[in-house]
Amino acid sequence: MEKQNKTTSINNIGIALDALNDLNATFKREIICPINKAKVITSLLKVGDDYALRTSLTSPDTFEKELSFLVYTHYTPIDNKVKPEFDDFCKFTSKNDRYVMIWSILNSTPYSKLENVKIRCPNSINKNSKCDAKEFIDNITYDELLNENSLCIWDESQEFYDYSYPIIKKINTNKIKHIEFYTKIPSIKDRIDILSLLGIDKINHNYESIGEILSSVENLVLVTKMIRMILTDDTAIEINSLQELHMFIIDLPITILRFISTEYSKKFDKYNPKFQKLYTCATCKEDFEYDVDIEFNLYQSYFPGEING
Ligand SMILES: [Zn+2]
Repeated sequence: MEKQNKTTSINNIGIALDALNDLNATFKREIICPINKAKVITSLLKVGDDYALRTSLTSPDTFEKELSFLVYTHYTPIDNKVKPEFDDFCKFTSKNDRYVMIWSILNSTPYSKLENVKIRCPNSINKNSKCDAKEFIDNITYDELLNENSLCIWDESQEFYDYSYPIIKKINTNKIKHIEFYTKIPSIKDRIDILSLLGIDKINHNYESIGEILSSVENLVLVTKMIRMILTDDTAIEINSLQELHMFIIDLPITILRFISTEYSKKFDKYNPKFQKLYTCATCKEDFEYDVDIEFNLYQSYFPGEING
């Protein structure tokens, strides 16, 4: 009889898949979604996940939906919370929370990190600057990007999808007294809706001219729940459908748009998740942060070299 090796070879895909499941189950991560204030567990990316994302790349609203679906299939609520249907997930989840879950999914995925990142002290970038430190290369793990400033927990008594924050702009013309903008944190569904309203040509135009998918007009539409215009005779006119909001905001004077955007930022910017590695410059000894765009890194992990930052 032939002497057997220590490793026994058998042909059984069932056992192989079981063992892979065990590997997949090992790499899970718990994270709090700061806007919904709910803890979830996320699981790692698999090779097969990229198929739907890849086929949806030509249409931004489909891509947005597929990206949300990828997040949806990779998270599990805990603390006895029930997982909603996908449509409700989109309606009642903010893009901020989706962003945090994408970080967590990347962080759940073994061996994933940011490699050969070029880091430079911001004090050394301009000519005549106060620091002469050179650029250096670092490898960054996703864990390192989470710090005490990363997540800001929602602190209003209402849920984010019921909440709106009024910003009032006095006008005082013959006809208009003032305009009230009721602003909000948009849900994933809000974003999908506006992308499908705009259509691919407009989005391509935005991207070519300003390098962003949404222009400042559309960004304001996205965060506006309702507009009330109060006339001098005290009549109030309400605008709340997506299309009408878009028609109205596109005709606003630019100064009003800036005013509303600034006031919105003051209220809501703190809720944008920030994933950044903290450094202290070896030369000038000042602290600085290196910000990482998490969604961009997800695209890159699937489509290396296909999308330029
Ligand atoms: Zn420096």
